[in-house]
Amino acid sequence: MESQVRPKIQCPRHGASEYSLVCRHLRLESGRSYYACKNTPHAPAQAWCALCDEVLCAEQGWTERACGVADWQITCAECCSASLARHNFLTWSVGTDEPQ
Ligand SMILES: [Zn+2]
Ligand SMILES: [Zn+2]
Repeated sequence: MESQVRPKIQCPRHGASEYSLVCRHLRLESGRSYYACKNTPHAPAQAWCALCDEVLCAEQGWTERACGVADWQITCAECCSASLARHNFLTWSVGTDEPQ
């Protein structure tokens, strides 16, 4: 597997940072349960709440509709950790683009 360097984002608070994708419920709310997958050479870390996971299961993947519910936004890894601290971690999930 070839490793590639993911571009960093410029966070106003943390400077050049690795980024993660976080669903809008986790960005804006608190006290939700969430799933996460670790970053891999070909995908950034992602976190999504139980509500998004229901849609993900119903759609059997991150379809346009599922992504519409999640409303992904690139978030600096440190800001992401700060957001996730307000929620309850459920379990690690295998990334959907991972070979099964
Ligand atoms: Zn969500
Ligand atoms: Zn940040």
